Amino acid sequence: MIDPFGRGIDYLRVSVTDRCDLRCVYCMSEDMTFLPKPEILSLEETQRLCAAFVALGVRKLRITGGEPLVRRNVMSLFDGLGAMLGHGLEELTLTTNGTQLTRFAEPLARAGVRRVNVSLDTLDAERFARITRWGKLDKTLDGIFAAKAAGLAIKINAVALKGENEADIDEMVAWCGTHGFDLCLIETMPLGDIGGDRVEQYLPLSQLRARLRKRWTLTETDYRTGGPARYYTVEQTGRRIGFITPMTHNFCESCNRVRLTCTGVLYMCLGQDDAADLRAVLRAGADDAALAQAIRDAIARKPKGHDFIIDRRQDAPALTRHMSVTGG
Ligand code: SAM
Ligand code: SF4
Repeated sequence: MIDPFGRGIDYLRVSVTDRCDLRCVYCMSEDMTFLPKPEILSLEETQRLCAAFVALGVRKLRITGGEPLVRRNVMSLFDGLGAMLGHGLEELTLTTNGTQLTRFAEPLARAGVRRVNVSLDTLDAERFARITRWGKLDKTLDGIFAAKAAGLAIKINAVALKGENEADIDEMVAWCGTHGFDLCLIETMPLGDIGGDRVEQYLPLSQLRARLRKRWTLTETDYRTGGPARYYTVEQTGRRIGFITPMTHNFCESCNRVRLTCTGVLYMCLGQDDAADLRAVLRAGADDAALAQAIRDAIARKPKGHDFIIDRRQDAPALTRHMSVTGG
């Protein structure tokens, strides 16, 4: 599938739930209201949509949420999608907070998952508890090491938070080096009302990179994962470090991704409101041809880019939907 700006779309992110067992301060408010169950796609519906995308040329699926591993029976989806590997699908992966990985790492590996992104913003237990509100560092670390033991390649995602985990990133670079993990740093994006102050949280990664360079030699590489990160090699550890900078660098030019929410809505851009309701198409009884046409029509409307700005006066979110709905 080629969008109007000539970008090939071969990567679909799929949110399987808006629920989560944590309440990270940049992602959710503490008293989140979640969607009623009937609005959420069944796992069979999700699988059918994914199959339609793969038939249209999607090569990479990333399952996310909310926390994908709290969705009941989620392994049946991974098993079903895993069966498409080698039949059009080239990669099946997930983004998780790691809390359930001790239970799921092995079944995921058996389903064909080879890589996993685990979100971890700090190695300091107290700060971890503060950022995630409900989390316990040890549980996430146990999950990460279970994934490693199951043979999964691990990338740690850390959101850079001003005055919070800034000073921990050095230690995380070293820790990732020791354990053979890649690290990816992410700027906060203004998505959803989180009952806090966005401007206070925002830390430009250019600043953080300059700070890291005092201790580490970072050599730019042209390595790409299909995602929006720019990668450097940390010469001292030999591991990669990626920077995702949606706010300071327009990362839209090479965007190859679209996102499916847990309610079956396809967002052509994380930072725009235009969307296609594929659940309505599915539940109206569409056959495969009609479903494929609805997807092609949506891709034909993919916008050129996002226009996130942080409103410094009002600190209002640029978009009212949360990352946990669209899928990170
Ligand atoms: N629960 C899983 C997790 O935490 O990895 C998957 C979903 S989470 C929404 C996906 C990623 O989005 C996480 O790495 C998280 O740190 C990131 N994220 C959430 N809200 C964000 C925001 N406002 N700005 C930037 N990244 C955000
Ligand atoms: Fe949950 Fe992930 Fe959002 Fe944290 S970032 S609240 S773990 S969905």
